[in-house]
Amino acid sequence: MTDLENELRAAIRTIPDYPKPGILFRDITTLLGAPRAFRRSIDELVHPYAGLQVSKIAGIEARGFILGGAMAHQLSAGFVPIRKKGKLPHDTVRVAYSLEYGVDEMEMHRDAIMEGESVILVDDLIATGGTAEGAVKLLRQMGANIVAACFVIDLPDLGGRKKLEDLGVQVRTLVSYE
Ligand code: AMP
Repeated sequence: MTDLENELRAAIRTIPDYPKPGILFRDITTLLGAPRAFRRSIDELVHPYAGLQVSKIAGIEARGFILGGAMAHQLSAGFVPIRKKGKLPHDTVRVAYSLEYGVDEMEMHRDAIMEGESVILVDDLIATGGTAEGAVKLLRQMGANIVAACFVIDLPDLGGRKKLEDLGVQVRTLVSYE
């Protein structure tokens, strides 16, 4: 295991049986509160894309907003929020998606991405990949060129990475929990 993985594992808190019995919730608020681990995570997430003219970072509500805002700043890119339904004030595109513990709908502003723009998608964690798959559908509907999907945490046993790769999306994660 790399030094970074060790630092991230030490900074991520695990909460058993949240929000439902049987779920091991990987809580990144402790990582966000650790200055060095937070900076190293962002540096590591963005470094392959420095100088690549990425136009937008699309972050999935809510933890993807925090990571995505920092990544956008670092890459001098714009930020696009992908939100739960009913939260965005202007015209939206909407998609239904399934997650590890439920079903929901997400939205993006229709004018947030122009045809052909280079976009990196980000969230804190990929589990079944249902959430990220929904976000990929929204972005592609708007004609985005998805450069990569980035996550701090991978739960590989739940198959999300493979689901995105099968959609032709390059996936980048920093630490995985088997
Ligand atoms: P999925 O759609 O199954 O890939 O689930 C990913 C989304 O649900 C992300 O937005 C995560 O923040 C959240 N999530 C799913 N499982 C967990 C978990 N075990 N710990 C923390 N967050 C999770």
